Amino acid sequence: MTEQYKNNDRHQARQQKLKQAVDARVERATAEKGVLLVLTGNGKGKSTAGFGTIARAVGHGKQAAVVQFIKGNWVCGERRLLESAGVPFEVMATGFTWDTQDRASDTAAAEKAWAVAEKWLQDPGIEVLLLDELTYMLSFHYLDVQRVVTALQQRPPMQHVIVTGRNCHRQLLELADTVSEINNVKHAFDSGIKAQPGFDY
Ligand code: ATP
Ligand code: MG
Repeated sequence: MTEQYKNNDRHQARQQKLKQAVDARVERATAEKGVLLVLTGNGKGKSTAGFGTIARAVGHGKQAAVVQFIKGNWVCGERRLLESAGVPFEVMATGFTWDTQDRASDTAAAEKAWAVAEKWLQDPGIEVLLLDELTYMLSFHYLDVQRVVTALQQRPPMQHVIVTGRNCHRQLLELADTVSEINNVKHAFDSGIKAQPGFDY
């Protein structure tokens, strides 16, 4: 037997073992329920992944909705696309931006956006809900963490929710079913490249 055939046999045996292990795990994972997904960390890609999941849901004919807890300076491309595909958006329209930092108006704006989030968190017709940049509302104490946790716990059992933002509160991390941390290895901004439409927003 040549060396190449021996290698092939070994490879096949390894793959077969791997397949058995994966199949066994797939067989065990039978529960179906709404998943709470947290996308956190300092690297780029949290909102992108959140919107990617919303696009995935829309592609399967599911009803999705988005609440954005930080008003950017520009309308993000995802909003333009997804609104036309029937995804309602609530964007924190007044008050909080990185520039204002006015506590009273920021809190009022957060409350207003959260009221819409709470309404959607009680609506089984919303199958996938993105709460983009929600973590900051908790770290700046604009929203009460217990209130947020309770609303998430009491949501319809099949509803998927995605929370994005840095420094996610410990209680949300504990409640989540899936947590992914995106690390910053490097970012173009640090070499003087500005945020560009159609790529960064
Ligand atoms: P994205 O919307 O690109 O997925 P994100 O949601 O992970 O980014 P945010 O902190 O919400 O991260 O970032 C919003 C904006 O800041 C984006 O334009 C993004 O490119 C930029 N950004 C994200 N991470 C970094 C970083 N580590 N350094 C500099 N800029 C960043
Ligand atoms: Mg983001």
